[in-house]
Amino acid sequence: MYSVTDPTTGELLEELPNATDEEVRDAIGRVHRGYESWRRTPLTERVAVVARAAELFAERADELAAIMTSEMGKRINEGRGEIGIVVDIFEYYATNGPALLADVPIRSRSGDAVIRKEPIGALLGVMPWNFPCYQVARFVAPNLVLGNTILLKHASICPRSAAAIERLLHDAGVPEDAYVNVFASSRQVPWMLADPRLQGVSLTGSEQAGVSVAAEAGRNLKRCVLELGGSDPLIVLDTHDLDETVKATATARMRNCGQSCNAPKRMIVLADLYDDFVDRLTKHVSAHYQPGDPADPATTLPPLASATAADEVAAQVATAVRQGATLRTGGNRIGPGAYLEATVLTDVTPDMDAYHEEIFGPVVLVFRAETEEEAIAIANDSPFGLGASVFGTDPVRGRAVADRIEAGMVYLNRAGGSVADVPFGGIKRSGMGRELGALGIEEFMNKKSIRL
Ligand code: NDP
Repeated sequence: MYSVTDPTTGELLEELPNATDEEVRDAIGRVHRGYESWRRTPLTERVAVVARAAELFAERADELAAIMTSEMGKRINEGRGEIGIVVDIFEYYATNGPALLADVPIRSRSGDAVIRKEPIGALLGVMPWNFPCYQVARFVAPNLVLGNTILLKHASICPRSAAAIERLLHDAGVPEDAYVNVFASSRQVPWMLADPRLQGVSLTGSEQAGVSVAAEAGRNLKRCVLELGGSDPLIVLDTHDLDETVKATATARMRNCGQSCNAPKRMIVLADLYDDFVDRLTKHVSAHYQPGDPADPATTLPPLASATAADEVAAQVATAVRQGATLRTGGNRIGPGAYLEATVLTDVTPDMDAYHEEIFGPVVLVFRAETEEEAIAIANDSPFGLGASVFGTDPVRGRAVADRIEAGMVYLNRAGGSVADVPFGGIKRSGMGRELGALGIEEFMNKKSIRL
């Protein structure tokens, strides 16, 4: 069942039935048929449609932000900010698509050849609720430019975003059968992946969903991109301004109510700064992040996306405390609605669950490292490898530390976030493949060698 529940009150606003198996098969048929004409549509036209989509996202920013606020409690300003990045992504692929898809000449010893960049077919997208528009954009924009068609299964708690995105893309000129939204259930995904009319799948979501989708993709030899969870480290080596550093790290952690895969979740602070850092962070977090209505731009702490999500995060915090972690502030569920106090935990050790898990909510973990070497060891002691940050005053030292971190992305003196022209993705249990930038258009591409 797809449904909309107001996360600020818990009130059920709307329910929509799942698509039947027959409707899902019909949707697969549509994107399969749509592929034959979309791939033959001249690149100039595909690019124009994607550019038009960018304009429509900009025009409809307020409407889309309001939908996200109502469905998953995103702060209204963050919703507008999300649409800003979506616009950048569509513009980036519209502008750069032709150059990214140009033939690559090869001077072979046995004569000239080229690599031609072609689409591979109809693709399935399985998308999450945390950034309902951005996550879709980074899969859809490059693939529409390339000539692939898309069947999209969005998260079951954001059907309104799913429908609004489909409407917008069709309004922009994407043919009805080149982008199809389907209210499929996750139980239907395995047999969808077995359907020979779909050529690949991109999933953003939890590790468990990733394992399931990767297994089905493997069984059916389908290409697969996975953007999963993370427990990104943020190392503080030293600072000219501790308050600034504390604020920057808290802001990055609390963005989207802590529900960002590449938020810094584990602050690792060198011993000489640690006590001061924890004190100031605790004061800042407890004073600044106060629960409120996400539709009010002044709100600092919105609800989580659902009561279930808030309960799960509260349980993770309670387990950490039971296992010996120190609760510096927060930790309590606040009702009605899916609120959780902004939380700071310290003294988390490798024998505790919180050391290894992703905590997808407004919870900061702070670790003390005696040396730079120990900071790097803690940073890498995680099953995940999405992003990482290094804060410090010496850029040479910062880069040397960054070079030793096991992650798909590293940020120097900044944390989290994403931009259209820089690839995004992780290693280890954070997934495989890259989205955004020049690499993001290559994942579902046939790089066809043609010997001339
Ligand atoms: P899920 O991974 O369950 O949901 C993401 C998407 O995957 C949804 O469309 C969901 O469909 C679908 N899905 C779930 N299970 C399967 C499956 N077995 N096969 C195919 N599709 C599936 O995220 P949750 O909402 O359960 O969040 C749980 C945790 O996942 C979070 O606490 C966080 O740790 C992580 N997460 C990470 C995200 C990221 O950005 N990397 C985004 C969201 C979550 P449906 O909604 O119908 O179940």
